[in-house]
Formats: sequence, C-alpha cells, structure tokens
Amino acid sequence: MRFVHDTLPQRVCFGSGEAAANLSNEIGNLGASRVMLIAAPAESDLADTIATGLPVALRHDDVVMHVPVEVADRAREAAAKHDVDALVSVGGGSTTGLAKAVALTTGLPIVAVPTTYAGSEATPVWGLTEGAKKTTGTDSRVLPKVIVYDAALTMSLPVEMSVASGLNALAHCVDSMWAPNADPVNAAFAAEGIRSLAVGLPRVVADPMELDGREHALYAAYLSATAFASAGSGLHHKICHVLGGKYNLPHAQTHATVLPYVLAFNGPAAPDAERRIAAAFGTTGALDGLVALKRELNAPRALADYGFTEDSIAEAAEAILPSVPPSNPRPVTAADLRALLRAAWSGSDPGTAF
Ligand code: NAD
Repeated sequence: MRFVHDTLPQRVCFGSGEAAANLSNEIGNLGASRVMLIAAPAESDLADTIATGLPVALRHDDVVMHVPVEVADRAREAAAKHDVDALVSVGGGSTTGLAKAVALTTGLPIVAVPTTYAGSEATPVWGLTEGAKKTTGTDSRVLPKVIVYDAALTMSLPVEMSVASGLNALAHCVDSMWAPNADPVNAAFAAEGIRSLAVGLPRVVADPMELDGREHALYAAYLSATAFASAGSGLHHKICHVLGGKYNLPHAQTHATVLPYVLAFNGPAAPDAERRIAAAFGTTGALDGLVALKRELNAPRALADYGFTEDSIAEAAEAILPSVPPSNPRPVTAADLRALLRAAWSGSDPGTAF
C-alpha cells in the first residue's frame, strides 16, 4: 500500500440541539467581535434560534444557488462596509458557497452551520457562476475553520430535499472510490458514509422528525465531503458539473439521478470499489444496494423530470468528454456518455444501460 494523503485543518463540533452553545464558544475561540451572519430568507428563523449569543454586526440574506458573481460582489462589499471579522453561514450548500466567495477575497474565517447534506462545509472548493458558466477552484482560505453540526436544524428540510441531498452525499462517497486522488483513507471515509446514509435516509423518510436518522445522514454528509475533498472529482462529478452549469438543473436532484448510471458504468471496471460499496450497503452487488435504497426512498429517477431534454444529450456528451479524468477505471467515449445520459434522461433500468 502506498499513498499520499492530505488531512485538512478543520474543527468539527457535532451535537444535536447544541448549535447555539457551540457557535458562541467557537466565535469566542476565534476572538471575533463583528460577525457577518449569512442565511437565506428561508433559513432566517433557523439562524435566529442559534445566533442570539453572537456579536452580529451584519445579517446578509442575499443567497442564490451556484453563487452568481454579482451576488458574491454584493456580499463582499457588505462585509467590507461593516468591517466584519468572521463569517457565520447557516444554510445549505448555496449559503456556505456565498460565505466561501467572501472568504476567497477577504481571508475571513468561516464558521459553517450546515442545514442540508451537501457537504460544502468540509471542502476547500469554491464555485462562482458568471452568465451560464460555473467556475470552481480550490483554495485553503475558503475551507471553514469550524463546522457546527446540529441535526435538529435539518428536521425542517422537506423529505424530498432530504433524500436528494442525502444522495448528493452518497455521490461524494461513490465517486471518491475512483476519483483522481482516491486513496485508502478516502475509501474508508466513503464506505462509512455509505453505510451511515443507508441506515439514516430510510429513517428520515419514515419519520423526518426523528433525530437518529437525521444524525446518521449529517454525520455521513461530513464523511462524504471529507472523502470527496481529498479524492477530487471523478466521472460522476464531471458529468453533474456540466449538467448543472449548462442546463441549470437542480444540484442535489441531478446527482441523485445520475449516480446509478455512473456506478453501472464504472463498477465492473473497479472491482475493489464495487466490493467496498456493496459491503457498505450490505448487499451482494454495489448497484443492487444503490437501486434498492433509491427505490425505498422514492428518490429522483429521471433527468427529464428536472428539465433536461433529449435533444441536449449529444451536446452535453461533447461538453463532458474533455473533463473526464484520465484515471477513470474505464475509458470513456462520447458514445458511452450519450448512452449514460440517455438512460439517466429517461430513468431506465441502470442495470441494462451498458
Ligand atoms: P441549497 O443550499 O440551495 O438548499 C436547497 C433548498 O433547501 C433551498 O431552498 C434552501 O432554502 C432549503 N433549505 C436548506 N436547509 C433547510 C432546512 N434545514 N429546512 C428547510 N429548508 C432548507 O442546496 P444544497 O443542495 O444544500 O447546495 C447546493 C449548492 O452547494 C450548489 O451550488 C453546489 O454546487 C454547492 N456545493 C458545493 C460543494 C463544494 O464542495 N464547494 C459541495 C456540495 C455542494
């Protein structure tokens, strides 16, 4: 066994019902006295419940998915005008993403309080959108200094969004098995993430207000993002990046839909990943485990349901092809991508797609 693995410097506080206390402690530890609290209008009440003890100098609620540059610029200007010395984000990946955009140019520390399973809080990856083009990059300044996880804050996340977001986390785990910097440490995190999602998500669906299922999903979201941050983007993320950016498809639902087709394509060429994923699901085959879980969760099934059209398949395949990692376990042609996208568009059985 030979590998090089970077461990990212980050503090993680996990405790249900403890976000307010943890947040207050952590802002104290940072010595911050002028906090910019970033929360979208929909999460504003949630933010109120945990931010009472903080020295908030500015509340900012101008949050838009995929962080358009003009939205980032407005947030940066507001931060400068109010002379803030720390950023607290309360929300999903879009909100964390805005805090990252501010940190990218200011170097301000972020304390992230995630309320979905997107996992952005555990990665040094930022994303900005200009026109229809999304640009991403990696910068240590955008990695939150602290993550405050509180599963109680995720109870209000609607079941449908919880499922899509949980499968977004599952996609981080699966793609980490064969991404360009895949290593045994990432694989261990990813396998435990899959196991915990397979336990937690059915419980979330059965009872969205049950804490145990939410905790399993949130813990898995952290593991999944940690694995992904280290392993990098594999084939699955390259495909979803193009679909999200070029066709404006919803992030979590796109990941949830495409994942079984990438697993069906890559799995047979990646026996070790296939074995580990199957073991994490507790099933004979990796794809069997994923398909059964998706069925149980009534998860997103076809890209056609999210606005992707059949006549975009060829164009999308051409756009994805140059970004396919050379280290993918199996060579990928434009015809392969067309077949994969066609199957994902229609929601056909992934087991017979290739
Ligand atoms: P999101 O942040 O847009 O949230 C989705 C919806 O859920 C929104 O309407 C939001 O208001 C609502 N919501 C969030 N928390 C809620 C709660 N607790 N209760 C009720 N409603 C709630 O979507 P997302 O899927 O969390 O994040 C997607 C974005 O994150 C994309 O832009 C994606 O590119 C980015 N992302 C980045 C990384 C990274 O490493 N940089 C990783 C994953 C995702």
